[in-house]
Order: sequence, then C-alpha cells, then structure tokens
Amino acid sequence: MSYLDQIKTLPLPTAENGGTNQQPFVTLPTLRDAQSLRGTDIRLRLLPDFATNPASLAPFTHHFHGVVSAATGKFTAITCPPACPVCQHGREEWYRTNKRPAWSHQMEHLVNAYVLDNPIDPAQNHTVKVLKFRQQIKAILDEALTGRDATEIGRRLFFLDDGGRTFVIHAERKGDWPVYDRSFIDTATRSKLDVADLSRADMEAIYAQSRPLADIFPPATPEEAETWYNTHVLGQGLPADPPDAPMPF
Ligand SMILES: [Zn+2]
Repeated sequence: MSYLDQIKTLPLPTAENGGTNQQPFVTLPTLRDAQSLRGTDIRLRLLPDFATNPASLAPFTHHFHGVVSAATGKFTAITCPPACPVCQHGREEWYRTNKRPAWSHQMEHLVNAYVLDNPIDPAQNHTVKVLKFRQQIKAILDEALTGRDATEIGRRLFFLDDGGRTFVIHAERKGDWPVYDRSFIDTATRSKLDVADLSRADMEAIYAQSRPLADIFPPATPEEAETWYNTHVLGQGLPADPPDAPMPF
C-alpha cells in the first residue's frame, strides 16, 4: 500500500485517539493568550512520579540542547545523554572563546499534576497532566518543598486529601510575555475545598495515572548526540538534496 493510500485509512485526531486534548502537558498561556492575560490562576495538586522516581518527591529535570540547524535552517533539539558530548563541546567552546556557544543548553522541570481548574484549557480540568516549568515556578516550588516553607508545606503539596495544599500558577502579562513569578501555594482552608468531592477511591485512581517522567523525553545516546552536533551545529554531511525540496506527493 502506498503512503497516500495509508493516509486515507487513518482516522483524524480526536480526544480519544491521541488528538490535541491528549497532549500530556498542562496548558499554560501562550504568547497570544498573554495579550489578554489579566492574572489567570491555574489550580493544581502535584502527584509523585511513583514509576521512575519512587524514592523522591523532587521534580524531574530535563536537560536539552537546541539550535537553529545548520543543515535544515529549522530549530532542532536533543535531550542530553549521561556524559553528554554536546555539553562537553559547550564547555570546550567556553574555555576556548569565553563566549556562549551558538547552541543552547537548557533545563526544564517536570512534575505530575492533577488539574483542578485550568481556565486556559478547561478540557484539562479533573485530568492528570504533566506540568512543564522553568525557573520562575521552580523557585516557588523549591521554597515550599525544601526551603523556608518545607516544614509547613513540604510533602503536603503531594497529598490529594484535605490535608494537602493546592499549587496555584498565577499567570500574568509582563511586556509581551506570560510570567509566573507570583504563583503560590494556596491556604489550607481554600485547598481543602478543592478536593471536597474526591473519595479515597478517586484519589487512588488519580495517583495511578501519574506518568513516568523519565520516559517523556528519552535521552539520546552519546553517539546520537555527537551526530546531532556534527549535523546541526557544525553542518557536516549536508544532504545532497536541498532540505526544502517539495515532498514527492
Ligand atoms: Zn548535553
């Protein structure tokens, strides 16, 4: 069967078969949403990653590199393997030139979350998603988990019962960007109201949907990372055909 015939037999995306509503991440405001942000609160309960991080409540940290590819002209990214050769090239570049390399090394953090209320994407309400976040939210969660508020809040961030605490992502506009630095942990009283309807069985079912975070962005192998660096950073081994050539059909 040709590819074209195969496409004709494939169902279009729906919520049931992996369509847009099945995206794994908590929907945060985009640049476009930021235009109308007046201060939007997304309410969540965090869930542990029992599958791939059973010994800790620490969020998962994903390290990756990104560059506008010398081969394709498009942005491309790769997840660092352990002993990452691209990180090593970055350090060498830094020592040699004292300048930031042309390719980036970025970090983002992942934690499972039960969405209580997401006005940006109400279809996510009462579902389990992964919150993907950067430094602004990280600083607030760190304070609650290991910092100043650890005794009072700490692991309560992961309780679904009425002893737990709700994490509120407060998104507002700064310039043209959504910012999250006024996110907060809600009071015990208001947090309690959020889960008043959940039975013990509901809670167990929600915890069971927590995703294995280490599997979301599988790390490249060191060889793949080296090839990525050679191809997309150095532009070696460019394909003979121009990359923008039209598809054959
Ligand atoms: Zn790396």
